[in-house]
Amino acid sequence: MMKRRIVLFGGTFDPIHLGHTTVAADAAKHIGAEKLVFIVAKRSPLKGFPPEASDDDRLEMITLATAGEKSFEVSDFELQKPAPSYTLETVQKFQKEYEGKASIYWLVGADGVDDLAYWHMIIELIDVCNLTTMYRAGCEPPNFTKFEAIWGRRRVDTLNRNIVQTPLVDISSTEIRKRLAEGRDVSKMLHPAVSGYIRQHGLYQSQEK
Ligand code: ATP
Repeated sequence: MMKRRIVLFGGTFDPIHLGHTTVAADAAKHIGAEKLVFIVAKRSPLKGFPPEASDDDRLEMITLATAGEKSFEVSDFELQKPAPSYTLETVQKFQKEYEGKASIYWLVGADGVDDLAYWHMIIELIDVCNLTTMYRAGCEPPNFTKFEAIWGRRRVDTLNRNIVQTPLVDISSTEIRKRLAEGRDVSKMLHPAVSGYIRQHGLYQSQEK
């Protein structure tokens, strides 16, 4: 019998946008996953600044953006832990939850490929889950060959095999925050309920960073 497949998608989601939901849903379908779990990060250890919106607002926006999809779930696991929170621990938490009976996949966008070398315990992470890379508009197609000297041929082959050619959706949270601070329209980049939430709570109105 095929092992259950669970896809985890972590990020700061500040805010969650249609790029996130479109590519992650496409990757999860490609993988044949029963569940796609959005995992809100407290902050990215590799980003030099904290998220602009609060943990609660980011969590609420993800809940709104994913509400219509039965196979989508939202996890606040990383928000509940004292910072910093590492992906390996999150993956191990889900492996335990499924009693080792599920294959766990972790999604990253192509813009994150070079950063992976700096992730905490990256080799262990590559070995315990299926690190799956998605295409991203404005980025080179992902390729791990340059990491062969540090991670070894077998790992690099697996990472290259696990690349999913997701649709190119040219949206980023940075662009959304910038446009909102300038009072510009972002409605085409967001789930309508997320647009409504941002408006209602006056989020991202000033450009502090
Ligand atoms: P920011 O602009 O604040 O850096 P972001 O739009 O990159 O944010 P994150 O929350 O940092 O969003 O991203 C979470 C994950 O989603 C990362 O792995 C990132 O590469 C991926 N991702 C975000 N937007 C896209 C997109 N449009 N296409 C493919 N992957 C994406």
